This record gives sequence, C-alpha cells and structure tokens, in this order.
Amino acid sequence: MKSSHTQSEKRFDYLIVGAGLFGSVFAYEAKKRGYKCIVIDKRPHIGGNIYCQDLNGINIHRYGAHIFHTHRKEIWDYVNQFVRFNGYVHTVTAVCGGKKYSLPFNMNTFHEMWGCTTAEEANAIIQDQIISAGITSPGNLEEQAISMVGTDVYEKLIRGYTEKQWGRSCKELPASIIKRLPLRFEYNNRYFNDPYEGIPFGGYNRLIEGLLSGLPVVLGAAYTDYIAANPDIVEKTVYTGPIDQFFNYALGALEYRGLTFETGHPQKIDDKSEWKNSAKNDFQGCSVMNYTDRDVPFTRIIEHKHFQPEVPNDHFTIITREYARDWTPADEPYYPINDQRNNALFEAYKLLARERKDLIFGGRLGDYQYYDMDDGIFAALETAKEEFDRPQSGMRNLNERPGNLVASD
Ligand code: UDP
Repeated sequence: MKSSHTQSEKRFDYLIVGAGLFGSVFAYEAKKRGYKCIVIDKRPHIGGNIYCQDLNGINIHRYGAHIFHTHRKEIWDYVNQFVRFNGYVHTVTAVCGGKKYSLPFNMNTFHEMWGCTTAEEANAIIQDQIISAGITSPGNLEEQAISMVGTDVYEKLIRGYTEKQWGRSCKELPASIIKRLPLRFEYNNRYFNDPYEGIPFGGYNRLIEGLLSGLPVVLGAAYTDYIAANPDIVEKTVYTGPIDQFFNYALGALEYRGLTFETGHPQKIDDKSEWKNSAKNDFQGCSVMNYTDRDVPFTRIIEHKHFQPEVPNDHFTIITREYARDWTPADEPYYPINDQRNNALFEAYKLLARERKDLIFGGRLGDYQYYDMDDGIFAALETAKEEFDRPQSGMRNLNERPGNLVASD
C-alpha cells in the first residue's frame, strides 16, 4: 500500500537527531516496524548524557551520575531486552560542616542531626520547627522544604546545595524540585523508592548499542550542517536537541543550568584531602557524596567504580567533581529551568512545532523538562505509539507499511 506521503527521492523515513535515550528508543521502535531510519549526533559518541567512557575498566559517567530506576515493570522489561542490571542500589552521603549525613531524609538523617531514635521524636522536632517558621501553605522551594523536614535539615542539607545547583535563592525556586526526594520516618537510606533499579553490566553504552544495532549512525554531525549537505534525504525528523535552537531562537532563548565536570585520578585533579582508604585506592567509599555547604564550590563528587561493585577494583580509581554554573548558549544545556517565563516560552515554541507535520520533538531538550531515564524511555515509546499505532494522530499507521516509501540506498 502506498502512503499519501510517498516521496520516492527520500532515502529515509526518519532522521533522528540525537543518539541519546529518547532518539535511540524511537529509532529502535521505527526500525522494528519496518521504517527506514538514520541517526545523527553532533557528539563523537552515541548515548547522549548517559554515555560511559571506559577508563581502565571503570565506566565513567561522563555527563554526571546516572542510576537507572523505575516503578514501571514494562520499562524494566524493555531495557532488560538489551542489557542486564547489576543490582546496584543507590545511596547518597551528604557532607556539611565536616559532618556526614544520610540522604534522602530518613531516620538515619534525623538521628545524625538530633540524636533521636524514634519516628515520634523526629516528627515532634520537625513539627516544632514548621510551627516556628509559620509556614501554612508552601509556595516555593524553601517553604516546601521546611514544611517537609524543618529548618535544621533545610539549613544544613538543602539550602546551600540547592542554591549552588540552581544559582538562585530557594525562595525563587518551585517547590516541585524538592518533592523529587523521598522523606521517610524509617531507617532506610535507599535514594529511590522504585522497585526496579541498577546499572547495566558493562555500562550504559551497551543499552544504546542494542537499541541502535543495525541502524546507520553518523557521529560528529550537527543537524544544520547535515541537512544542508543532504537536503532531501528524509521525510520526517525526530529532533531531540533544544527546541528553541531548532527554530533559531525566533521567540527568544530558553534557559538552562550548566554543569562542569572535573574528572580524573584524585591526585591528578589536585585534590589535597585525605583519601578515605588510600590503601585500596578508594577515595570516598561510596559512589556519590554531596557537599551541601554553600562555600564548597562543587555540588558533589562521584567515584565511578562504586557503581560497578561486581568488578572488584582496589588498584585504581577515578572521581568526578560536579560544578553547577550559569549557562550560555555556547554551553551544553543540562537542567531546564522550568519557571513561569521559560514554561510560557516553551509553550509558544510548541505551537510553532505543531505547524510542522514533518517534525517531532522529544527528549529532555525537545520537551524542555527534567526526565529520569525511565521517563525518557516512556516518552519515546508513547511518541512511537502515537506516530505509528494510532491512525488518527500519526503521519502513518501500521496499515501503511513503509516498503514503497523509500528508495533503496
Ligand atoms: N537536594 C538537596 N540536597 C541534597 C540533594 C538534593 O537539597 O543533598 C535537592 C536539590 O534541590 C536538588 C533536588 O533535591 O535540586 C533534587 O535532587 P536530585 O538528587 O534528584 O538531583 P539530580 O541528581 O537529579 O540533579
């Protein structure tokens, strides 16, 4: 059957811009349904921000720590088609004023903070602090944090970290950011509540390699250059870069928070502090340590080998210090700043996008929202269903098989 969109000169049905999780899942789903796809990425590697670089057998999370976790069984089964997970369970230690505290906020934290041992004692202290602060209906991150855990925890573990991470006062930030962290009145340091969690054996690249297997992938290819050189190559584009950049900032620029990563052997990146266990080449004894003091310039240190406990390694280590910073359009965009101005601007770009039937936007940058990895996969699968399986909404449906859409290459 011939599609109304048949353009025999096109060599591909879909150009997928961005070989990150969203783009790779979409490409896999399109290929599975018989469509012909090509994937490009401006970086010299696949994987987007989940890319891992192998350094002496340690998978370095090049763009920050990524821990896969999900409550959705179907997403867990989906990723397990491609990789197996190592059973890693994420915990985070926070350091403030030279003292160590457990995260997320739980009875261990409250014991470390106040010496109390029961949930009743902890709750009574928190309630006292909430009443003293006079907060009834929290309208920003500061009020939300205090109304969850009281002023002591807010001052020591939230305020400095959050203001470093977001570059603005907690009073100007939305309450939703802090709601991402669990609060528990039990002794449980698990960072995530989800039943499925882990790091892929061999790192995240294997997941992306599985998704992109058999597909043409062009690396080091910026979209505008690629499309200028290959103007008629494709019928439809799935764009996972920043939506404002695609439209050449016609309505103004969306804002992001930038990150800088300083990665290396602890001594090579000029660290003066004592190693926790230098005999075992272990810098901090855990995968992630947050530094919540405002005057410590970085937000956290990652020690990558602790993400892969199945690979014994007491001869070598690599750490990454993560710094949050102001973002300029020349920088890599990391966290969308979902305040009113930016959300309104994004909605305006979405209207522009709707006029383009040859385009799909998706992923963290295309959708301008913070995605956990499972959210990104879920969104890509929904987009694929919308595109291929729901006749009324997509460009094509399953009855319009792509066989005669594409000239052979
Ligand atoms: N947060 C905090 N102190 C911490 C860790 C997190 O106040 O030690 C707050 C901070 O506002 C941060 C939010 O919780 O933006 C979400 O933290 P999460 O660890 O989910 O951030 P991510 O790892 O996604 O950057």
